[in-house]
Amino acid sequence: MKFGDLELTIIRECEFKLDAGAMFGVVPKAMWSKSIEADSLNRIKLACNLLLIEGNNFKVLVETGMGNRWTGTQRDRYELKTLVDWNNILADLQLKHTDIDAVVISHLHFDHIGGAVSLINNELVPSFPKAKYFIQEKEWFDAHNANARAQASYRSDDFEPIKEAGLLELVNGECEIYPGIKLHLTGGHTRAHQVISFTSNNKTGIFLADIMPTCHHVNPAWVMGYDHFPLSSCDYKNEILNKAVTDDYLVVFDHEVNIPWGNIILDDKRRFAFKPLDMLSARPRMFK
Ligand SMILES: [Zn+2]
Repeated sequence: MKFGDLELTIIRECEFKLDAGAMFGVVPKAMWSKSIEADSLNRIKLACNLLLIEGNNFKVLVETGMGNRWTGTQRDRYELKTLVDWNNILADLQLKHTDIDAVVISHLHFDHIGGAVSLINNELVPSFPKAKYFIQEKEWFDAHNANARAQASYRSDDFEPIKEAGLLELVNGECEIYPGIKLHLTGGHTRAHQVISFTSNNKTGIFLADIMPTCHHVNPAWVMGYDHFPLSSCDYKNEILNKAVTDDYLVVFDHEVNIPWGNIILDDKRRFAFKPLDMLSARPRMFK
């Protein structure tokens, strides 16, 4: 999709399932089950949507998904279905792995950084060998100092090879990595979770990562049980949703299985609501 001078593509890397209780925190099942269906194990279907932002002289990939380094047992646990074959996807986009200049990772949980590293000839190497990998410095620290609750979501094999290859770019707080392409520290989901905004020709979009993973999380109070700092998530959501309405932001959801991008509007009761972009209702692997 053309967005000002930018070209945006969503790449659906995988689909998987997670416990609905963990996805909706303190929100009662009686409420969330009105809008989303859980399976017999109380799991809901999710996706990993990656965003490719192509500018005049840069190509930025936002997130890398779960990746391929999973055993059969682990795949069964999450009902993980990997959807991308990177060689095909990149060929379709007329790109090579070496064309990606920057990879932005919202935080180091395995469903965001898992695809950043590939096992090639028995060696763990960065999947995009010419890219700088942008990660908040505090997130890097926390991933290496996680306590018993936090450590279940971090796998060092997902990120150490990036540092070893000299591609790690640690940042602190807000920064502009290319003209109009900005990283913002949000906290909430993890202490140093970040999101990315992109502006071109007076249009702004934002990839909200795990601050607002699906269209069912548009209510500021519907915060995930996974969040380390749920009250911070609620505050940030309230702020960004108001901005999204006023400034007509394009919002992109990382884990939404249906159409993952659109706008935020106020409904007749002045509650935030999601208006998906008008496009094929089938679930294609790629949205352009
Ligand atoms: Zn996630």
